[in-house]
Amino acid sequence: MNSFDKIQLGLFPTPMYRLDNISRILGTNIWIKRDDLCGVALGGNKVRKLEYLLADAKNKGYELVMTTGQAQSNHAMLTAACALRLGLEPVLVLKKRGVTACKGNQILNKLMGVKVIFADTDSYEFIYEEMDRIAAEMGKPVYKIPCGGSNALGALGYVDCMKEIAASGVHFDHVVAACGSGGTAAGVILGAQLHLPGTHVIAPMVDSDPFDEIVPRIMREAVELMGIETELPVPDLIDMCGPGYSVPSEDGNEAIELMLRNEGIVLDTCYTGKAFAGLVKRAREGCFKPSDNVLFIHTGGAGGLFAQDWEA
Ligand SMILES: *Cc1c(COP(=O)(O)O)cnc(C)c1O
Repeated sequence: MNSFDKIQLGLFPTPMYRLDNISRILGTNIWIKRDDLCGVALGGNKVRKLEYLLADAKNKGYELVMTTGQAQSNHAMLTAACALRLGLEPVLVLKKRGVTACKGNQILNKLMGVKVIFADTDSYEFIYEEMDRIAAEMGKPVYKIPCGGSNALGALGYVDCMKEIAASGVHFDHVVAACGSGGTAAGVILGAQLHLPGTHVIAPMVDSDPFDEIVPRIMREAVELMGIETELPVPDLIDMCGPGYSVPSEDGNEAIELMLRNEGIVLDTCYTGKAFAGLVKRAREGCFKPSDNVLFIHTGGAGGLFAQDWEA
């Protein structure tokens, strides 16, 4: 098996424990893995990916790092925070979509003094070309990180997370993690296949991209990168996108309230609220036995919650 350098950026292992109140309400054993508490900015799943991606950028001698996403991208904010810590210069080329005002993650981008460029386009291809153009202007080669850090190298961060869970010795019947650009789901499914025998992965989709193709592709590329051979399960995806990517949904908001009122844990409207709503949906459909252990991976996202307008 090939091994890849990573640079420690987060506080791992993250805490993992049983949610007693929600377990009682849903009639099964619900656990949580607090990747929101991983110690960089507001935390979140992108830190595990960035440990690999930014190590790669450093090893290859890059000084300039660019990534993309929507205006409130947690991934872009965390890329900036992690890059600055490593002495790399981050530039964020974001889609002019979502809340572009200085709210939520944009407050953090501003406080970090990071260069943010909005591109009025829906095409990531155009954005990656734009990155090349900006880098040429700056006279530096650029390490481009794809949207969400979702490539094979980034996915290795979640293979490691499954290894971390295996080391706890707790057997989980199900693991639930949000799917927004696919890298986390790919890493979780592949990592479960390698390190958590008998664990089934559920990936609630919070965007409407063809994840039934995207997730298996990232898994195949990760397997190739690792130089291993393993069978790859078909992802169990649930559509939890509701009215659209980053648009709050009714069941997502209900799940946010359920978690905050019973466990004091903050979820967000774009990812974790909808993902937890997917877990609640499966529980209500009777998919979990009372004796099952079901693990929800908290992938972060608090910044985005505070970009939303809420009725008083
Ligand atoms: C990016 C993100 C996700 C989704 O992860 P992907 O690897 O992009 O599918 C889930 N939760 C939060 C808070 C995120 O920022």
